Amino acid sequence: MLNILFTASECTPFIKTGGLADVIGSLPAALKNEQHCNINVILPFYEDIKLNQSETDLVASFNVPVGWRNQEASLHKLSHNNITYYFIKNSYYFGRKGTYGYFDDGERFVFFSRAVIESLPFLSFTPDIIHSHDWQTGLVPAFLKILQPITGVKCVFTIHNIQYQGIMPANMFNELLNIGSEHMFGMEWDGLLNCMKAGIYHADLLTTVSPSYAKEIQYSYYGEGLDPLLRKRQENLYGVVNGIDTSEFNPKTDTSLYKNYYHSSDDKKENKKALQKEANLPVSSETPVIGIISRLVEQKGLSLVTCMLHEILQEDVQLIILGTGDNSIEDTLLEAAHTHKEQIVFYNFFNEALARRIYAGSDFFLMPSRFEPCGLGQLIALRYETAPIVRETGGLRDTVVPFNEYTKEGNGFSFTNYNAHDMFHAIQYALNTYHTPELWDNILNNIYASSISWHQSAKKYLSMYEEL
Ligand code: ADP
Repeated sequence: MLNILFTASECTPFIKTGGLADVIGSLPAALKNEQHCNINVILPFYEDIKLNQSETDLVASFNVPVGWRNQEASLHKLSHNNITYYFIKNSYYFGRKGTYGYFDDGERFVFFSRAVIESLPFLSFTPDIIHSHDWQTGLVPAFLKILQPITGVKCVFTIHNIQYQGIMPANMFNELLNIGSEHMFGMEWDGLLNCMKAGIYHADLLTTVSPSYAKEIQYSYYGEGLDPLLRKRQENLYGVVNGIDTSEFNPKTDTSLYKNYYHSSDDKKENKKALQKEANLPVSSETPVIGIISRLVEQKGLSLVTCMLHEILQEDVQLIILGTGDNSIEDTLLEAAHTHKEQIVFYNFFNEALARRIYAGSDFFLMPSRFEPCGLGQLIALRYETAPIVRETGGLRDTVVPFNEYTKEGNGFSFTNYNAHDMFHAIQYALNTYHTPELWDNILNNIYASSISWHQSAKKYLSMYEEL
């Protein structure tokens, strides 16, 4: 039986800022469903984690070397839905509000990665595979190869978003890492210490979250400077598209919804009316509602929307936006919502239940990303029988098939270039299709048939683990 340890910085239901948490929260169970294996997840014990320490068992207390200091850490264990979760506690690094955004984030995750290595003797199993995710745990494969705390273990490193790399000044190598200077080479990029590079350089196998993104990041437009290294490792780089937990995201049973539904546009409409009422918009089942649920960062393409706002609002359409992020995007959306109260509502906070009501109550889900490693928003939208409108990039390209009114194929709408007018034309085409009942029925049937579960992708991960 395979023993697998996931290392990551967020995971539902304990702590979430974005799609990474959904993936770490759902892939282990999907792997277990496919094959009998022992899956464990190790996470930081943030102050904001949705868990009382009393619910966990204390496994061990130990020291973690961080440069000239020793930091104390404790390891806590919890069994939840047949998966074992380990949490590393240290109040200096993780006894703070929220997750990321601190000046010393780099140091915090150097500590966490080293603490994962120091905790290995205390786990109730010896891992065959350690699967690390994103820059926060990029140093785990590096420490494993360099310090060799256990033999025979293989490392998989998954890139969920190459834009965030965990970059620090080069002198942090000596300040924090406690390894010989000959190892700087495998984690230095452009004269800086780079945790993402460390993972890419040291892991036995690399994956990213869609086949298109696996190709894209080998080019400079998408590679964020690391494309030469990824081209070197292309033989070991695979793209596996994310899925979603279809029992967690299920319009048939979701208790956040006004009315549960399944393959019924009439019942779905009840959710639309309730959402319009909740949002203080005119209640009209004829008027298409476009939902956006997103981190408000440049990557997500909100500037295309704000560029074309005037044109979009000439259409009979309502926009409901939920998101937090960069101040400049938030300010623009706040102003737009204030000026166009009849057509735009902007919720500037994070709220899981409202997100679900928006997925359910919208007719369309807009995701015009400049780049998108996989994207879960469009998958959740499909699950809630809402048509995605996306830019053809990364995982959006791999999961949304543009509707073709002649062949009747397609489960959404898309545009190719990162161009505001191209996006607007895709929106116009989508709205026209919405008002043509035969075509809209085709789209709905294709949405119902879309494959969005983890089934195929979990199988791919397992065959990679077996091969390793
Ligand atoms: P990313 O991981 O880049 O943020 P994804 O599309 O992969 O983008 O995943 C985003 C996840 O976070 C989705 O589950 C989405 O519903 C959720 N989400 C984003 N912003 C909010 C918000 N303000 N409130 C609730 N959920 C949100």
